[in-house]
Amino acid sequence: MMKEQVQKPRALVIGGSLGGLFAANSLMQAGWAVDIFERSPSTLDSRGGGIVLQPQVVAAINHAGLDSTDPLGVLSRERVYLDRDGAVLQSAVQPQTQTSWNTLYRRLVRGIPDARYHKGKRLVSYTQTGATVVAKFADGTTEKGDLLVGADGGDSTVRGLLMPEMAPTYSGYVVWRGLVPEADVSPETARALSGKFVFQHDPASLMLQYLVPGEDGSARPGQRRFNWLWYLRAEKGTELDAILTDRDGNARRRSIPPGMLAEEQEQRFRCFAEHRVNPAFRELVQKTREIFVQSIVDLAVPQMVFGRVILLGDAAFIPRPHTAGSTAKAAENALALGAALTARPDDIDAALSRWERDQLISGRLMSDWGVRMGNRLMGITT
Ligand SMILES: Cc1cc2nc3c(=O)[nH]c(=O)nc-3n(C[C@H](O)[C@H](O)[C@H](O)COP(=O)(O)OP(=O)(O)OC[C@H]3O[C@@H](n4cnc5c(N)ncnc54)[C@H](O)[C@@H]3O)c2cc1C
Repeated sequence: MMKEQVQKPRALVIGGSLGGLFAANSLMQAGWAVDIFERSPSTLDSRGGGIVLQPQVVAAINHAGLDSTDPLGVLSRERVYLDRDGAVLQSAVQPQTQTSWNTLYRRLVRGIPDARYHKGKRLVSYTQTGATVVAKFADGTTEKGDLLVGADGGDSTVRGLLMPEMAPTYSGYVVWRGLVPEADVSPETARALSGKFVFQHDPASLMLQYLVPGEDGSARPGQRRFNWLWYLRAEKGTELDAILTDRDGNARRRSIPPGMLAEEQEQRFRCFAEHRVNPAFRELVQKTREIFVQSIVDLAVPQMVFGRVILLGDAAFIPRPHTAGSTAKAAENALALGAALTARPDDIDAALSRWERDQLISGRLMSDWGVRMGNRLMGITT
């Protein structure tokens, strides 16, 4: 007698960055058929830099069977606080591994068959009837599934359709960022910074650096990059608007990518760095070819499950970067989703409800902690 073929449930994952890749890998492990729909027509490419490698990220990679002998990041052994002259104020042994967005992206995308990752597919709307969701894309095509996962980031279209009133709010400060190839820095600076997580904290200003793998993912000495970040206050209104206007005069919503800073803003920032930071950090800024900037925002949704439509990653919570938790949270959301659906394959709605309860608690905790820490570090009183 022929065995009856059971059809796998199908998930439509909207967004093909880290959140979408974690979700897709985890759902596949849970026995789902998965397709990713990413609005960008080309392969995503890191506009950013470093990410602290958290255990949830390693767990998600291992769970998807994507572990390998290639290192995922660069180890720093100690945390060091410098003053403006470069003198060590404090140091402590605290091993931590740092990676980069492109290293994680490259590893996670290996788990997804090419035919299941659809580029140039921008979700514009969806309809939900009972346990079926139909996604509609800007090119006029539609796709049907049992679950739609909104992993489409801080400006999520899915969240906008569900809760148009919910949007990220500006925190009062921005982060200026850059990457410098290890080979470009002087031996004195390499000695001061290599293998360390280094900070300079002044009133309303926090600068830090750590090494991350090279653009090609190599963690070999000499091929890595110094990743620096400098958090500085910027008043909402004229000051912030000027920072977020690119070199072609276009107002950007939240960030200016590498190479697009307005010349006047770049000169102002470089001049400021000459007078405000220690010699090693000063050299990093001087040697950065393309500085970029992002505004720091907060977002915490009250609900993550809406029938068969769910939100995860930055679409649901944007914790302050000091928590080093955005990517870890996306990984945790995805791992827990797979586990909940594996535990209750017969009742998807019950599994989602259980998942939401736990994820809302951890998202809220991380978000509140990040706001308190960020405001304290930047001297913001509310
Ligand atoms: C290119 C890139 C580089 C990054 N680099 C860094 C970094 O260096 N350091 C760091 O800490 N964080 C970085 N991030 C952010 C980091 O990935 C996230 O904070 C975290 O991993 C959770 O991500 P997410 O996938 O939920 O959201 P995001 O990473 O913002 O991804 C959302 C994805 O959804 C897609 N999307 C949005 N709307 C639609 C739509 N309507 N239809 C289809 N697709 C849509 C976007 O194009 C994007 O790829 C980067 C993000 C991107 C996209």
